[in-house]
Amino acid sequence: MNTSKSRELFASAEKYIPGGVNSPVRAFKSVGLKPLFIEKASGYKTFDVDGNEFIDYVCSWGPLILGHSHPQVVESICRAAEKGSSYGAPCQQEIELAQLICEAIPSIDLVRMVNSGTEATMSAIRLARACTGRDKIVKFEGCYHGHADSFLIKAGSGLLTSGVPNSPGVPEAFANNTLVARYNDIDSVEEVFEKSGHEIAALIVEPVAGNMGLVPSRPEFLQGLRKITEEYGSLLIFDEVISGFRACYGAYQNEIGIEPDLTTLGKIIGGGLPVGAFGGKREVMEHIAPLGGVYQAGTLAGNPLAMAAGAETLKILKKEDPYDKMAKMCIFLTEKIKDVFAQRSIDCSINRMASMFSVFFTGNEVVDFESVMTADTEKYALFYREILERGVYFPPSQFEVCFVSSAHDLYAIENTVKIVSEALDKIS
Ligand SMILES: *Cc1c(COP(=O)(O)O)cnc(C)c1O
Repeated sequence: MNTSKSRELFASAEKYIPGGVNSPVRAFKSVGLKPLFIEKASGYKTFDVDGNEFIDYVCSWGPLILGHSHPQVVESICRAAEKGSSYGAPCQQEIELAQLICEAIPSIDLVRMVNSGTEATMSAIRLARACTGRDKIVKFEGCYHGHADSFLIKAGSGLLTSGVPNSPGVPEAFANNTLVARYNDIDSVEEVFEKSGHEIAALIVEPVAGNMGLVPSRPEFLQGLRKITEEYGSLLIFDEVISGFRACYGAYQNEIGIEPDLTTLGKIIGGGLPVGAFGGKREVMEHIAPLGGVYQAGTLAGNPLAMAAGAETLKILKKEDPYDKMAKMCIFLTEKIKDVFAQRSIDCSINRMASMFSVFFTGNEVVDFESVMTADTEKYALFYREILERGVYFPPSQFEVCFVSSAHDLYAIENTVKIVSEALDKIS
């Protein structure tokens, strides 16, 4: 595969942008490659600047559930742009997206738009802290909630101690207020609450973990979280930035019938433009300015382009209901991949839910951060280079999720299986 133009561009990018990228995973470091520069993308296909074509399972890390440059979404953006890109004043498109979200997710009476998932989770915990008058939050090992200081915290030496910063530049003071528990392990949560429950403002969780690879939650785990947080008067925040409108039309909480106090959204609700949102019951959301004292704002928040792209995406999802079709494609693909691994006696553990999946290079069942970490990242890198060479674009990290969009068809899926088997032959 010729990647000379990408290499040239990457060298230029490195001159002006730290590491040549605006988000670290894009640097392809963990698979030992240099990033490809993308020229264009359409449906399930991505084309790099050297003219190589890929079947894309990254889909911009989740937002593009309808595939790239869906004609109706593109048209909605163009139509909005003709009338101005941002007013810093209310516009009708904001109501449309907010209404679609509130109607689709029963636990959300009011929703505030922001520009990213990071802003959504950051604002949600500020709100939770204000509502409860408490400072501490609980998160889970392996869950990602954007890059705000309070979330870049990993477990300390023991569960009952406070967390430790996961990045230089995060003050100890933040780590002291973030407690870390184990995903899918309700006992670890009980332990944390027994010790500090009355100081805990909120517990935040990805109800479908999608940032350590895909790790579905056990239903009794989420039920347990609802019960414990209620018992201690802490708010339960479902971070559905990935799972929102991915697992089904609405949020994953709809499927399992658990209502969190606050929900954070992003990715799909922006239709490929920068959007995040947080919402919940009226009594909680009324603490936000200008109704209440909790300050939260955004120069470009709710801008008409982003709102139009998001609303159009949700309207198409609602009308065309591609969820069944996407899930079937995903089942077909993952079952075939499983066979291909089994035929060659290569260890793999595949997690799948709706149109998301992860292929872990491990023989262990993957249910939490600890089991995720048993995956062989070097083998993934070897595999990655072979599939990329042959035209399949998976996330350049073992610990990210693959997405099937409504644009992926049987032809793409069968081609992928063929390429995966060729890649495995090459590395085994
Ligand atoms: C992507 C993601 C975020 C952060 O969203 P950004 O738009 O990248 O800031 C937060 N939470 C979850 C669960 C995510 O997957």
